[in-house]
Amino acid sequence: MKRTAPSKARKTRSRTAKPRNERRAARAGSSSLPRVSPQARARAAQIYRALLDRYPDAHCELNYSSPHELLIATILSAQCTDVAVNKATPALFARFPTPADYARATPADIEPCIRSLGFFRNKARAVHESMKAIVERFGGNVPRTMEELLSLRGVARKTANVVLGNAFHVNEGVVVDTHVERLAKRFGLAPRDATPAAVEKHLMALFPREQWCMLSHLLIWHGRRVCKARGGLCSTDDICRRFCSNAGTSAKPARRKPRPR
Ligand code: SF4
Repeated sequence: MKRTAPSKARKTRSRTAKPRNERRAARAGSSSLPRVSPQARARAAQIYRALLDRYPDAHCELNYSSPHELLIATILSAQCTDVAVNKATPALFARFPTPADYARATPADIEPCIRSLGFFRNKARAVHESMKAIVERFGGNVPRTMEELLSLRGVARKTANVVLGNAFHVNEGVVVDTHVERLAKRFGLAPRDATPAAVEKHLMALFPREQWCMLSHLLIWHGRRVCKARGGLCSTDDICRRFCSNAGTSAKPARRKPRPR
């Protein structure tokens, strides 16, 4: 197709364009991302590259074969390991193949399939009600926007980010779970006292949008394999030695106070 010369209006716009990270902030739907220096962004890029070299196949470790299964698995993963969720979901997904099947069932029908997981009664209710809403309000399809996902029971921003990033390849934010929060702070990507919401904003400001979903996988994989909550391989791991303020110590990381949920 023949390319036309840029219009005058477009030329004017490019001359007055906002700096790159401000444009990124606007696209992120937030004008309140923290300001970050080019040096901080360059360091973040080095961390990303090192983690990607180490974990090129990093991916979501919950098993699913459709967006609604991912949504359910993510709801079930609250306060549970992915391994435990993956043990429970095959029977659950076989018994209830579609959102309509959960909508027709009662929470009590769902409970036996997830009894091995903590808070299974609340989770059964959340699964039932979220699937019912998907059937009644979204034609049986998991919605693809943050706002719509947040309207579902049991879905907070972290769950919505998991679904958008992994099921739909939409980078609306960064998943901040316990590993991402811990690693982001230890790698100096967010202040030590930042809340999970503030950690997410720092990561959004430091990394290009197209990396957000993979970034959370990389941090989670490093968190599960190297930097475990109860003490990591602080003095022996290359990535840790390059980027973490704890590197060189073998001290156990300080215990975190439980955060009210
Ligand atoms: S140096 Fe230790 S605390 Fe830092 S990321 Fe590595 S394992 Fe975690």
